[in-house]
Parts: sequence; C-alpha cells; structure tokens
Amino acid sequence: MKNQHATQRLQLNARITGMKNAGIYPYFRPITSDQDTAVRINGKDVLMFGSNSYLGLTNHPYVQDAAKAAIDKYGTGCAGSRFLNGTLDIHVELEEKLARFLGKESALIFSTGFQANLGVVSSITGRHDYIIIDEADHASIYEGTRLSFSKVLKFKHNNLESLERILSSLPEEPIKLVIVDGVFSMEGDIVKLPAMIDLCHKYQAMIMIDDAHGLGVLGEQGRGTANHFGLTSETDLIVGTFSKSLASLGGFVAADAKVIDHIKHTARSLIFSASATPASIASASAALDVMQNESWRIDALWDNTRFAVDYLQYLGFDIGETQSPIIPIYIRDDNKTYLMTKMLMEEQVFVNPVVTPAVRAEDSLIRLSLMATHNYEQIETAIDKIYKIAQKLDIPLYEYATAV
Ligand code: PMP
Repeated sequence: MKNQHATQRLQLNARITGMKNAGIYPYFRPITSDQDTAVRINGKDVLMFGSNSYLGLTNHPYVQDAAKAAIDKYGTGCAGSRFLNGTLDIHVELEEKLARFLGKESALIFSTGFQANLGVVSSITGRHDYIIIDEADHASIYEGTRLSFSKVLKFKHNNLESLERILSSLPEEPIKLVIVDGVFSMEGDIVKLPAMIDLCHKYQAMIMIDDAHGLGVLGEQGRGTANHFGLTSETDLIVGTFSKSLASLGGFVAADAKVIDHIKHTARSLIFSASATPASIASASAALDVMQNESWRIDALWDNTRFAVDYLQYLGFDIGETQSPIIPIYIRDDNKTYLMTKMLMEEQVFVNPVVTPAVRAEDSLIRLSLMATHNYEQIETAIDKIYKIAQKLDIPLYEYATAV
C-alpha cells in the first residue's frame, strides 16, 4: 500500500498481535462438523458451550428438510431486496406466522437481526426526537441510534431510577423511544419490563424490546419476554432474530400494522439489501413449528440452566444476576479471561470470552450458553474443568459456596 498513514492505521492493533503472539487469540475458530452440543475443531471433539442455538435445532431433520425443499423449489438466493424482486411467498407467510405467534398485528423480516435493529431504530425517530437506551443494549441498537440522527441518552443497566431521571427531564412534544434487550446478551438477566412500561406510560414514551435471547427461551411456548410478563400489547415494537433459538439466519420486527408499513417503506437496511435466502426462511419457519410441537426442549433448556447455575454457585463462582441460559462467569481480568478460554479449549470445552470493550474491564467474563440438547454429564464435565482451571489461575471463589 502506497499511503504510509493508511498502512499504519490498517495494521492489526497491538493488543490483537500480542494475543496472537501469546497464543491466547480466541476468535474465528473454524468448526468442521455439524453443530450441536459437541463439535469438531482442529481435529478434536469439543464440548460446545458457546452457541446461541438454545433449543438445539440446527441438526433437526424437520428443519433441515424444510431448508432443502426450499432450495429445490426457489433456488439458493433471492438476488434482490424485499422491496423489489426479493419477496417470496414464504417471506410473507412467515411474517404472518410470526405476527400470529407473538400476538402482534404485523411483522416484517430483515436479512439479519442486526439489520432489523438498524432499520427499525433509524426509522421510528428523527432529528428532533429522543432515543433512550439501556447501556447494556446490543451493539446493533447502538448503531441504529446513530443512523436515526436522534438525541441518544443512556440509562444505567436495568436501573429504573436512572431511566426515570432521564424521561422526566425530556420535553413533552418529541417522540421518545425507550429500547431494551429482553434478555441481556452478556449478563443473562431479564429486563424489568413491567416497571419500565409504567414509566413509559407516565412519560408518554414508546418501548421497543430486542428479544434476540428471549425468543424460544421465555414466555408461553417461547413467545419471548413481553409474553413472559403478559405485556405484549403494551410493548410497541418487538425485534427478534432467527440466528439463535430458530437455528437459521434472519431478523424481524413485530408491531401494529401501521408501524410495520412505515418501517417497510423507510428502513434502508431492508430496502437496500438482499432478502433472506429461501433456505433461511424455510428453516426458521420449520424451527418455529418444532419449538411449539416439541415443548420438552424449552423445559430441558431450563432444567439444564438450573443444573448449571446450582453447580456453579455451589463451587463458589461469581455468576452475577443471570436469570437465563446465558451464564456469565465473572473473571474480572481480561488476560485471565483469555487464558481460561485457551486452557478450556485445550481441555476440549468451547466457551466465549467477553472482555473490553464489550463489557468494562472489571466485568470481563467467560460466557457459558446452555442448550436444550446438553446433558447433565456434559455440563458437569465442563464446569469441573472450569473449576480446575479457575484454581490454577487464582480466580477468587466465594467462601459461602458449600453452604448453598
Ligand atoms: N440483538 C442481540 C441482543 C443479539 O445478541 C444479536 C446477535 N448477537 C443481535 C441482535 C443480532 O442478531 P443477528 O445475529 O440476527 O444479526
């Protein structure tokens, strides 16, 4: 590259290079097998505790057959945006099915959950309006707020006083949109939705939930966080993804028909991007059926979650405030978090490290994600290995553990 400044700027930053040199770089690890609770990496069988496929549906024959049949009928891609040539009958059918399932008038599918958040957040409010977000909201919400050109205010994570302080300071006239995750993707806790909705009513704000991690996990048959609290009609916008419980790729928003019609004609991440592939749509739709027909999966997911939480607490791990199959094990040191991830991989256990800037340095953690298809033995094996390594790395454990 001729431009010296560009060459310097585009070099890997020192931190990444340092991690690579120290052999603790934990990203982009290629999997060479099918993906359930055990996968193959580097020629070894590895227990998977880093997947968001909460219901374990990526290998389900009904889901796979639906994807194959869609390829046979429609081909491999749509070669265009939903707006123009990229709408298939199965896009529209799945939108209707999602709206019915969630209890909303209408739904709209995007090609990813990230794009759904970009498109929805940027099309609801304008330059003179306000978006109020939880500081722990997903990155795609942060990016959406930038595209909206609105005034953006952050409240402390799941903190009602902090939210009220902001809402009470805003003028009446502009649109106010509060955005929260249903289940927070790093901490695993659930949004305090009833009290937040009360505040939204009091200060005439709209509320949007990103339920990427609530769909398939919470609520009746996995209908998600708003359903879990019986607050579907009070929740103005529900955003979700196909990339977690639904074992596919794509995103959606569900809301009143008029709102969806507005988003449909405004969201640039929808209008200027190719539509979700036939296989993605058909597999998400089939996974939605399986989720309802095989209710044991959600039960098993929660059984596994309780088992893991109890065992981790018994051993004395700091797992924060989790209320979901996302279990943070707080290490509170970026370097030890990376080391632990590497040592666990050597012991054939896959976990995800979460470090700065995704969380504050003092909150760095190992994220354990449970699936319906894990068994107790796999969970016990993984946690025993985590415990052994935690002792080697001097990770502080709670004293009271044995009394739990
Ligand atoms: N919202 C949240 C809370 C997420 O965790 C994710 C995925 N990590 C997304 C949105 C984006 O979804 P997708 O993978 O479909 O782009």
